[in-house]
Amino acid sequence: MVNGFEPRVLICCECEEEFVFTGAAQEYFAERGYTEDPKRCKSCYMHYKKAQRGAPQHVGARKR
Ligand SMILES: [Zn+2]
Repeated sequence: MVNGFEPRVLICCECEEEFVFTGAAQEYFAERGYTEDPKRCKSCYMHYKKAQRGAPQHVGARKR
């Protein structure tokens, strides 16, 4: 059974709400080689990603 991903209900580590780890999401994770379940619900995950990406970084800003 290749595409036998069933939706699972997980608890978000941020807001402690239940969220559904959908079959599509599981497939996506599997394709990327992630073996662990997501810890955050979608909205917390988005927030987390945004925070990471939006974090100010002073990398290579100045070169002499
Ligand atoms: Zn959450």
